[in-house]
Amino acid sequence: MIANQDTMVHTFWDCNKKFFNNSLPTPIFDTINSINIIAKFEYHESKKNAKKPIRNQIIKISDCFDFSEKDFIDTMVHEMVHYYIAWNKIKDNKSHGKRFMEIVNSLNKHYGLNIEKTKDASSYKLTEKAPKIIKKKKSILSFLFRLN
Ligand SMILES: [Zn+2]
Repeated sequence: MIANQDTMVHTFWDCNKKFFNNSLPTPIFDTINSINIIAKFEYHESKKNAKKPIRNQIIKISDCFDFSEKDFIDTMVHEMVHYYIAWNKIKDNKSHGKRFMEIVNSLNKHYGLNIEKTKDASSYKLTEKAPKIIKKKKSILSFLFRLN
């Protein structure tokens, strides 16, 4: 499964329904051309008194990997947990903190997911978009919080 607008939006919608009670508005989707970063979630803080808690939220997934369906779902849900925490203004002690791991552990337990803080992507199939010369991959799932 290769990340593109179609695969990302449909996987997001499925996971939003199954795991987040359709509570997350559809974000922007984009790809990143990286074998070091598998995926990332970015957003901006809302301005004061804004109706929405955050804005400009983007989920990006690398187009260098041909994921199994399960790995693609785990990757999407990892980023959606960051999104859920930001959207609901849940306070956490760090980006993969206590609250993040509580939600992840609960999803893993109840739905048989295998979400982790980082993924070893060395066994993932590469796409034609992957760089031709590759140093060994220790890939991360990233979380980037941007202020204005
Ligand atoms: Zn993360």
